[in-house]
Amino acid sequence: MALIPMRMILQASLDAYKTGKPYAIGAYNVNNMEQIQGIMMAANKTQSPVIIQASRGALKYADMDYLKHLMLAAAELNPGIPIAMHLDHGNSLDTVKKAIALGFTSVMIDGSLIEDGKTASDYEYNVKVTKAVVDYAHKFGVTVEGELGTLGGIEDGVGSGKIHLTDPNQAVKFVKETGVDALAIAIGTSHGAYKFKEEPKIAFDIIEKIRKTIPDVFLVSHGSSSVPHELIDLINKYGGNMQKTMGVPVESLQKAIKLGINKINVDTDGRLAVTAAIRKVFVDSPDKFDPRDYLKPAREALSNIIAQRMTAFGTAGHIKYVKTATLKDMIKLYENSPA
Ligand SMILES: [Zn+2]
Repeated sequence: MALIPMRMILQASLDAYKTGKPYAIGAYNVNNMEQIQGIMMAANKTQSPVIIQASRGALKYADMDYLKHLMLAAAELNPGIPIAMHLDHGNSLDTVKKAIALGFTSVMIDGSLIEDGKTASDYEYNVKVTKAVVDYAHKFGVTVEGELGTLGGIEDGVGSGKIHLTDPNQAVKFVKETGVDALAIAIGTSHGAYKFKEEPKIAFDIIEKIRKTIPDVFLVSHGSSSVPHELIDLINKYGGNMQKTMGVPVESLQKAIKLGINKINVDTDGRLAVTAAIRKVFVDSPDKFDPRDYLKPAREALSNIIAQRMTAFGTAGHIKYVKTATLKDMIKLYENSPA
């Protein structure tokens, strides 16, 4: 099984929703070996299918080939776990082409922003760039996630910083015009650690409407870290200086899953867990200087918080729900679909 098209992992979630037993798949970001190991430890422990995603920033930081081989190693060492390798916030057809050449089984094209990844685009631009990516990626059997509406916050240099909720009517049109497999919708969540000063209002009514009008497209919630105050407190206890902030409560995400969200992007929570663990070692054991002394606890802390999310999102124990398929199978499926 191992590395498979993201479509298969999300299809199992959508099928579960339709039979009244909804659960979602977390998509967790990687930049280095310890992160990917932590994610796979959590997937093993909870027996969860998993989406591992890399942003453009990650590809730059780790050099594309290092990341490619880390992901291949994860697949090789975990043959029993369905894994999708996903490009997060692709900004152009060129970036998507590079990711597909590297072996990614899924790509996101974020046409809600222009190529700089910062400036909001218009609807026509979004349709044009997304459709071009769908036409290209589906020839390789690769799953495509688009985005309509914009999130708050900025992370990895991505984002306009302004929230613009997705219009359900426009979502129907967008899906028809582009043929995307998955759609990231703006429902009031936000990228980064500094999301909200008070508990955010998630637009549950928008999820409900969109789920009804586009019943066969996978729905994605970005910017969905919960930013646990325990982690902020730990970071500050061990010499950090993070301001009080709030993320999206896990309970809100669980409600969103019940309404039909299939994929939930979590990056910040992992970053916080890693930072807290490393700071603790530095303060408790100032004599240590072997990177393994702090990277090992960091990896464990990351694994623990991801395992918590896998359990909370209901992903745990769902490996057997995912049907195996290859990119070749997907090529046939896309050729035969009317879009
Ligand atoms: Zn995002």
